[in-house]
Amino acid sequence: MKRKTQLIHGGIVGDEQTGAVSVPIYQVSTYKQEGAGKHTGYEYSRTGNPTRHALEELIKEIEGGYAGFAFGSGMAATTAVFMLFNSGDHVLITDDVYGGTYRVITKVLSRIGIEATFIDTSDIENIKKEIRPNTKAIYIETPTNPLLKITDLQQASSVAKQHHLLTIVDNTFSTPYWQNPIEKGADIVLHSATKYLGGHSDVVAGLAVVNSPKLAEDLHFIQNATGGILGPQDSWLLMRGIKTLGIRMEEHEFNTGKIVEFLLAHPAVTKVYYPGLKTHPNHLIAKKQARGFGGMVSFDVGSEEKAEQVLSKVKYFTLAESLGAIESLISIPSKMTHASIPSDRRKELGITDGLIRISVGLEDVEDLIEDLEEALK
Ligand SMILES: *Cc1c(COP(=O)(O)O)cnc(C)c1O
Repeated sequence: MKRKTQLIHGGIVGDEQTGAVSVPIYQVSTYKQEGAGKHTGYEYSRTGNPTRHALEELIKEIEGGYAGFAFGSGMAATTAVFMLFNSGDHVLITDDVYGGTYRVITKVLSRIGIEATFIDTSDIENIKKEIRPNTKAIYIETPTNPLLKITDLQQASSVAKQHHLLTIVDNTFSTPYWQNPIEKGADIVLHSATKYLGGHSDVVAGLAVVNSPKLAEDLHFIQNATGGILGPQDSWLLMRGIKTLGIRMEEHEFNTGKIVEFLLAHPAVTKVYYPGLKTHPNHLIAKKQARGFGGMVSFDVGSEEKAEQVLSKVKYFTLAESLGAIESLISIPSKMTHASIPSDRRKELGITDGLIRISVGLEDVEDLIEDLEEALK
């Protein structure tokens, strides 16, 4: 099955009983048992729900994994995956990781003894250098947010395997339509499904896919024990979003290419960050491991003042956190998505005050370019 077909026909399709072409929303908490402990496979919706199950089957298939799990948010999925580790375990993490991931690791998981070192994983030597006797995993985001840095997934997971570490990849930016980390050696893939997978700014959700029966058993145990599950309505909305993921990603890609060309040629823009650019330091790795470069672009206009001016003038780019939806969004990472990262740390990472991040939507690209042109004047 080709990718676009799989998005529509993968997982569990429709309802046998009625012929309904979409999976029904099983808005239910408990299930009648034939005798004590004798049930149909469903006993209580925290443990399993048919609508959520259909979504979990779908994400498992499109990521090419062994099992999928749906959570109430991307952060709930990430936290559940970190619950695989014990106090005293150590994890290596991409340095310009999503701000919320940085926060949960440094402010919550650190309190229960999970140690982390943040490194630039785009240089494999950094990974090798920082592995300790108690290191249990490498957690990678690629491309990163907001500087669009790229880590070579094959190389990183092969280093991880040599040291018996898990490779965990946050695949939110690329989506399974462009990139499948498990194919490249990853053990666990995470998604903030709030972004491209949902695609319409109407649901907050997280997904995790694992590549082995052992990890599936462990993560299901954690999902059921800690309870951060996704509800049936939101599971259904996500399945609806995923059906159009292919055509949306193709169009995001097209629009983004045009906008990047425009930004590069504009005198007010001092720097453009996009993995599709030949001048991007890891362009060739991005090209090797993904089928597309995505719809996220960051660019520098030199100062906080200028960045704020651009933000105040755009019409079609909505000033908002989040990304990956049909409508174009614009933000200043240092003040919004990455405000939870201390300012010294932001400077170290290169997240300047004049940095603007855009999530290119599905409007007509000519309107988007005209809008940016006016704002940059
Ligand atoms: C948004 C985001 C998250 C967190 O997901 P939520 O659904 O907001 O909890 C994690 N990683 C990345 C890359 C994100 O963009």
